[in-house]
Amino acid sequence: MEPLEQLKDMSNRLSHLNNAEEAKSQTLHLQTDCPDCGGSGWIWSRDDNGIPYCEECHCGIRKKMILQNQLQFAEMPDMYKECRFSNMKSSVYQLPESKEIFIQAAKAVKYWLENIQQMQKQGIGLYIYSNTKGSGKTRLVCSMANEMIEKHQKSVKFTTSLKILDEIKSTWGERGKNAENKLISDLTYADILIIDDFGAESGKDWINEKFYGIINGRYVDKKTTIFTSNYPISRLKYDDRITNRILERSLEIPFPEESVREHIADAMKQELIKKIQGGENGKQA
Ligand SMILES: [Zn+2]
Repeated sequence: MEPLEQLKDMSNRLSHLNNAEEAKSQTLHLQTDCPDCGGSGWIWSRDDNGIPYCEECHCGIRKKMILQNQLQFAEMPDMYKECRFSNMKSSVYQLPESKEIFIQAAKAVKYWLENIQQMQKQGIGLYIYSNTKGSGKTRLVCSMANEMIEKHQKSVKFTTSLKILDEIKSTWGERGKNAENKLISDLTYADILIIDDFGAESGKDWINEKFYGIINGRYVDKKTTIFTSNYPISRLKYDDRITNRILERSLEIPFPEESVREHIADAMKQELIKKIQGGENGKQA
């Protein structure tokens, strides 16, 4: 074997080893009685030259672990964990114009999800806005996040702009500059970043500086960002360097100006009741 090939081979094996170590440390809360891998997700073998290597176990626990890790990493609010894009219906809106705006938005989002590889390659994200609180924007982006994690194994991070600023403030003082840089680099690193309620705060200089750091970092790396906001991009209070970056890489999608928080809660209750009754009927049949 040539040195380069050996090096590649070594690096390959090392990365598997590291993965196996990681996998072991993560099985604590994911018990399995798989007889082949003992719950680690990896199986060791030797190749023709007697060199050990390891393979993913067929039991599928590795995929489950990855999914769980990605859901943990995403940090979505609990109430949106079960939301799926396919469950979002225009019927929760009462006003005809809301239904129409929702249908148009859903079409664009569906297309974006179906072409996610292409969208990511080009760094194209979405900017979903409506002035009305409770119009379903957060629910929409969390539904998208669940779908991207489950169907496309993407690393998705959910945050709000207030949370970003709070975390930055909390690193001032005792934890120092390094902690702040790590947070910013985490936000820059996620394949897909969701920033909910963007533009909720004033355009103070330091805030402009921080957001520019994050958004420009993602722009340069062609990473996809999804925003929700109460304002269209043109009405954001941040400076032009930020809004121009966002404009260039986001499809701006208006969302209905109607609060559906209560309607959605009702619809979910109805669905639950239907499920329970359906289950009972099923047993009787
Ligand atoms: Zn196994």
